[in-house]
Amino acid sequence: MSAVHLNYIDGQWCPAENGETFDSIDPATGDIVGTVARSTPSDVAAACRAAARAFDRWRLMPAPRRAEILFRAGEILIRRKEELARLMTREMGKVLQEARGDVQEAIDMAFYMAGEGRRSFGQTTPSELPDKFAMSVRAPLGVVAAITPWNFPLAIPAWKIFPALVLGNTVVYKPSSETAVTSSMIVHTLEEAGLPPGVLNLVHGPGASVGTALARQDEVVLVSFTGSTEVGRQLTIDLAPQMKRLSLEMGGKNAIIVLDDADLDLAVDGIVWSAFGTSGQRCTAASRVIVHRRVHDELIRKLVDRTRQLRLGNGLDPDVDVGPVINRAQLEKIDRYVRIGVQEGAQILTGGRVATGRGLERGFFYEPTIFDGATPAMRIAREEIFGPVTAVITVDSLEEAIAVNNGVEYGLSSAIYTRDVNRAFTAMRELTTGLVYVNAGTIGAEIHLPFGGTRATGNGHREAGTAALDVFSEWKTIFVDYSGRLQRAQIELG
Ligand code: NAD
Repeated sequence: MSAVHLNYIDGQWCPAENGETFDSIDPATGDIVGTVARSTPSDVAAACRAAARAFDRWRLMPAPRRAEILFRAGEILIRRKEELARLMTREMGKVLQEARGDVQEAIDMAFYMAGEGRRSFGQTTPSELPDKFAMSVRAPLGVVAAITPWNFPLAIPAWKIFPALVLGNTVVYKPSSETAVTSSMIVHTLEEAGLPPGVLNLVHGPGASVGTALARQDEVVLVSFTGSTEVGRQLTIDLAPQMKRLSLEMGGKNAIIVLDDADLDLAVDGIVWSAFGTSGQRCTAASRVIVHRRVHDELIRKLVDRTRQLRLGNGLDPDVDVGPVINRAQLEKIDRYVRIGVQEGAQILTGGRVATGRGLERGFFYEPTIFDGATPAMRIAREEIFGPVTAVITVDSLEEAIAVNNGVEYGLSSAIYTRDVNRAFTAMRELTTGLVYVNAGTIGAEIHLPFGGTRATGNGHREAGTAALDVFSEWKTIFVDYSGRLQRAQIELG
């Protein structure tokens, strides 16, 4: 690997056309993790041409052979897991244990999607006519653009790249600049696993220029995007005239409901993990707690107590529970939201400020923050903050809790703590999020099940599981008439 982290186009590691670079920074220390090529639209165009050229060869390679490359990539990721996790913690900030989980998710997805090389099932069905055969098969789409955020630097790229490849598509991949070094490791892995040139191409650079140029390229038939709702909405508007396929995974405002019959200690475990894990920078983070009035005081006491014990610091330190947030802009955004919460009349129970203790001076740390007295109308209870901040809303019934949960713009994840099976099943039916957890927090998706959200979180697609196959392929329905005569569907009735 060279000193500058390069683009990867047509099987070659190459600098940006104009030679420009940018630095990727460790959010815990301010140190430079790596210097990265800053691409131009002409680099993007070259990557898309390479992907288009590689498509025919790749789609005609038998799927089980394509899958063997994914299996090898999974093995390489296992071998490099610790090294990649450490790099991820340095570049993105999440604590090492979580970074290992991020790499593990990529490993799981490699093996799961490699299995699809021998499945990718279609259907065979009876025909309504004699001597006629009917079936459906999955066909690859062509060149896929994969645009990814920084909060899961390997898992989210794996969620896009592995299914796209196993189904016979070629890919141009633009990771977030915040985690460009870690995110490019999936490309190194697939290269080492034997992926042919042009099948996967990497272009680094800012979303506003490089991401936009990539999405608009004529060769690109599908844009698979994970990031903010703001950018997803812009892409939708931008790409409408081209009628491009667009699969969007966007923001969240997820809630944990705690009913009056809940195991409160279990609920506190789930809230602390879901609200403050990854410093609250998960799309599924619990940024709202909806609690039944009867258990409000006891839950709050336990929750504040546990939250105050969390240790902030560099995620490489095994004693640290909560790492930094990604950058200064995010730190300032979180603090702005906390001020808004105070102005709106919510009360800070703990946290509420930039953390300044020893060892935190050079990084971007925010104290885990709990608001009480929030109402559903407040901005802190409606808008995505993407930091270690959660707002407690008090309700008087299951019905009110469900209405509050469902009454936001987003619809990614929700959770309910109750010991009553009737209330649990009612909630499972009535909560209008893409993910629902019973007696567990809002985070912790598994890769073999559909992942995604409703309303402003998504546009109806799901990643992961077999649902991902529908995003990265299209159905072709085939009829074979071996009767040797004209047969007319719906007209020949017997
Ligand atoms: P972001 O929208 O700023 O950026 C995401 C990616 O899009 C980056 O690679 C960025 O460079 C690129 N981009 C930015 N502007 C672009 C444009 N105009 N055209 C094309 N590409 C562009 O998001 P982020 O800050 O990297 O990530 C945080 C957001 O991601 C949060 O809103 C979070 O909820 C969301 N997220 C959602 C999921 C999910 O599955 N629903 C998962 C993780 C993160």
